[in-house]
Amino acid sequence: MKRHKTFKLGPHTIKIKYAKDLKGDDGRSLYGVAIFHLNTIYVCTQFGADKVDEEVIEHTLAHEAVHFFLNYLNLHDMNGNDPLVDTLSAVMLQYFKTLK
Ligand SMILES: [Zn+2]
Repeated sequence: MKRHKTFKLGPHTIKIKYAKDLKGDDGRSLYGVAIFHLNTIYVCTQFGADKVDEEVIEHTLAHEAVHFFLNYLNLHDMNGNDPLVDTLSAVMLQYFKTLK
């Protein structure tokens, strides 16, 4: 799969970085994280010796992108609802993948 590097959101350019063994501040492993004040998304590609499936990487990127969309729209309550973010990102991905 192509490793996308940036996308535009209004006047912002959001950077996409790929990392191994991505962890949060609390030390938990993360598939992805959206850091709004840095306009950056990190996506994990490998945990230890285990590569993350390309499909999971794609879904993680879409999930973190939706976090950025909701933050940009000041929909912070929705942004805190991770199951909703997951559903929106899955629907968005399906739309782009099945568009003919
Ligand atoms: Zn999330």
